[in-house]
Amino acid sequence: MSQAPIKTTVPRRLRWRSLLLLGVLLAPLLWPLQVSIERYYGAQLNDQKRQILDLYVANLLGTLSRYEVLPPIFGQLPSLRQLLKGQTNIALQDQVNRQLASLRKQTGADVIYLMAPNGQTLAASNWNDEDSFVGRNFSYRPYFREALQGRHGRFFGLGTTSRKRGYFFADAVRDGDNILGVVVVKVDLDHTETLWGDRPERLLVTDNYGVVILTSHPDWRFRSTRPLDNAERAVIADTQPYRIQSPSPLHLNEKAWLKQSTHLEDIDWTVSILAPRRMLDGPVRTAVAVGGASLMMLILLLGLLMQRRRHYLERIALDTHARQVLEQRVLERTLDLEQLNSRLRQEVLEREQAQQELVRAQDELVQASKLTALGTMSASISHELNQPLAAIRSYADNAGVLLDHQRTDDARANLKLISQLTERMASIIAHLRAFARRDRHAPETVALQSALDDALALLAKRRRALDVELIRDLPEATLWVQAGETRLRQVLSNLLANALDALSEVPPPRRLWLSSVVTADGIELHIRDNATGFSAEALQRAREPFFTTKTSAQGLGLGLAICDSLMRAFGGELSFDNHPQGGALLILRMKAGDNSMSRVSDDLANET
Ligand code: ADP
Repeated sequence: MSQAPIKTTVPRRLRWRSLLLLGVLLAPLLWPLQVSIERYYGAQLNDQKRQILDLYVANLLGTLSRYEVLPPIFGQLPSLRQLLKGQTNIALQDQVNRQLASLRKQTGADVIYLMAPNGQTLAASNWNDEDSFVGRNFSYRPYFREALQGRHGRFFGLGTTSRKRGYFFADAVRDGDNILGVVVVKVDLDHTETLWGDRPERLLVTDNYGVVILTSHPDWRFRSTRPLDNAERAVIADTQPYRIQSPSPLHLNEKAWLKQSTHLEDIDWTVSILAPRRMLDGPVRTAVAVGGASLMMLILLLGLLMQRRRHYLERIALDTHARQVLEQRVLERTLDLEQLNSRLRQEVLEREQAQQELVRAQDELVQASKLTALGTMSASISHELNQPLAAIRSYADNAGVLLDHQRTDDARANLKLISQLTERMASIIAHLRAFARRDRHAPETVALQSALDDALALLAKRRRALDVELIRDLPEATLWVQAGETRLRQVLSNLLANALDALSEVPPPRRLWLSSVVTADGIELHIRDNATGFSAEALQRAREPFFTTKTSAQGLGLGLAICDSLMRAFGGELSFDNHPQGGALLILRMKAGDNSMSRVSDDLANET
């Protein structure tokens, strides 16, 4: 049988190289990730720094505004006004000096001083110090000029003697429209730098010229963040707000810093906070690294999942293949078995036909052998029939003569003899017919015990008359033999009748034994009696038709001949001998029957 190849599909192997390629393709995704993380962290950082900046600005403005209101208040003090009015009073000057020193202490200002309209310092809180302002002229300072002009004087700058940075608030002391002098409060701003502490962010306060006046980074101090024009430079040189005459430029690397600024309108300052970019870079790098690692993990996981899926599909494909192979094998085996089955059926049919042929041939053979036997028997038959015919003829002749002589009784006796002789002839012919009958039935399975019981029932009356003891040694279970039911009964009746014939010749006790033996070839039935047994001649010739040792009225000599022929017809065998303890022993050997075989009723047997 041609066999179609079994195909199974296994998904294409996903190589790690493809995954690597996928990784490379997905890598650009990290760029937007970096940008958005930068944006996120940047916003957070800005918020944080903005809060610090606001705090600082609030602190700075708070400091300044605290002192802003002081000059006009101090200008109302009578002692100060007195001093401004009468300038030569030494005692008053001393009193004012002490008063200003006391006020300085109370307010926390750096210096408080009182100036005459010509710029001369009349009294100062530091009157007792080495660098006392008393007697010094600060008319060049812009705050003084502004105060004289009736404005609020504001100025950032270094103290000319102290060299300390400060913010100056100045206001005129008025007496009506007349200006008596100017009160100045200098606020120390150094501490606003130290407030900042040691932080990574840097603070930058620039004034209206863009020059750094306050910073947490000393190198940047008094450097300009933008170019200065000549006019500005001239003003700076004139007012001397810084330690140096001309501030050097400060070049900040914009990329290195994240800058936020607030402009203070009132004083025209700008406060900036600069956070180093690395504060942002660190977390961004970490986040991108985490993102990259997650991507790699994802790809790895994907790879593993796909590998597992491939393994699973491969296993399914293998299972399917194995099942297909198995199914194909089962199919082939079923086909083989079907072929074998049909061959067997064919063989059984052939065997049945052969069996029928054999039975028919056997039948033919038996019939032929019967006819042959009849042929050989014909001489004896004609002798057997001629004898009574001759006797009948002479009895008839005699009867005629006796009737002529009116001897009717003798004539009747002759006629009776004739009648007896015809009976005997009819009996001979009946036996011959039975012998010659063509029995077409194949051997069937017959129950031995019941056939035996039937035969014994036929002869029961005679057995009782002779007082024959029956010794029966047969099993309870039915013994099935191959025979014909009627024919087996005929054989058994003949043999049992012969035994009773022989027993009738001997005095009691008369015994008849029936026993069975199961052999490898089949079943044996033993029939034994305790009569005289076969004579030596009978042992030799008992199978011959018409051989009898009985009187002509008793025996025809056809019993054993017919039994032998019937037994052979259904594959059995009849043997006889004398028992060592006396009497005859007849053995019927038969094939064991199959009790499951269908039994054909003898009723259907038709005579031919
Ligand atoms: P028949 O009974 O008419 O004589 P058979 O063929 O049946 O013819 O028997 C042939 C002979 O075998 C008998 O005449 C007898 O001599 C002998 N024979 C048969 N059965 C027995 C027996 N049971 N005991 C002794 N002899 C027997």
